[in-house]
Amino acid sequence: MKFIPDLAKLSLITEKIRQLKKRIGFVPTMGALHAGHFSLINQARKENDVVVVSIFVNPAQFTPGEDFKKYPRYLKRDIGFCRKLGVDFLFLPDKSDIYPPGYSTFVNVEVLSDVLCGASRPGHFRGVATIVAKLLNIIQPDTLYLGQKDVQQAIIISRMVKDLNFPVKVKVVPTVRQEDGLALSSRNANLSKNERSGAVVLFKALRLAETLVSNGQRNASRIISRMKQLIEKNKQVKIDYIAIVDQERLRRLKKVKPRSLIVLAAKIGKTRLIDNTIIDYS
Ligand code: AMP
Repeated sequence: MKFIPDLAKLSLITEKIRQLKKRIGFVPTMGALHAGHFSLINQARKENDVVVVSIFVNPAQFTPGEDFKKYPRYLKRDIGFCRKLGVDFLFLPDKSDIYPPGYSTFVNVEVLSDVLCGASRPGHFRGVATIVAKLLNIIQPDTLYLGQKDVQQAIIISRMVKDLNFPVKVKVVPTVRQEDGLALSSRNANLSKNERSGAVVLFKALRLAETLVSNGQRNASRIISRMKQLIEKNKQVKIDYIAIVDQERLRRLKKVKPRSLIVLAAKIGKTRLIDNTIIDYS
């Protein structure tokens, strides 16, 4: 595995790889790697000749008041994981290389970035779209791998790729969960023991919604209120939103349809967690 510290070098390397007609799979991350990330890397490994992983805690996607400095960082451990998983190139850029003095250009995917997590984290998705656009321009991968866990992010990036004609295929990899169902997230490391055991209620609420739908319930507000009742039993959990939306525009639906998304966000103590499920019936 080779380490790449700067953009210019990465550009040169990926250009050479493309000349050799090798397929490049790219997995962007913020580090603190876990089995969720591994699943993306493994899929990239299976489907490409060359796998590039980036680790960059992107300051542009943290909103005021969110603690960029406290985001978990385990670089040594992450490097070991990447080696084991057969990553070819690990890109570890510096903040000043990505956003040099005078940096002024941002990508905003309108409407989709303003709802759900975007409503509580204004500017967050602008930061995400900007860094992914930059990395796609530099690496020019054949395929970009994203996780279903961050479904709004995956929808926004897919929209950006389409709207701005990036020549890349986007693949969304299923959410990896812990044994009790909690979606793996780097932020889980910030949960106390008590918060961690309570956090599973988010997954349970999604399962409850799936059961209600499979029993014939189609009324979104009834499903959401049952989910709220369940979550609110746990006093340490503060719901940010629960919504049932369509996958294209993220519009809130009154009636559940096949392939609609149930999305939620909640704070447990100081930690904000998100999760979602795709309603699967026809
Ligand atoms: P992050 O490091 O949190 O920015 O995540 C990097 C990528 O890993 C994103 O595409 C995430 O959606 C994906 N990811 C994070 N957690 C999971 C998970 N539990 N299952 C699948 N993908 C995940």
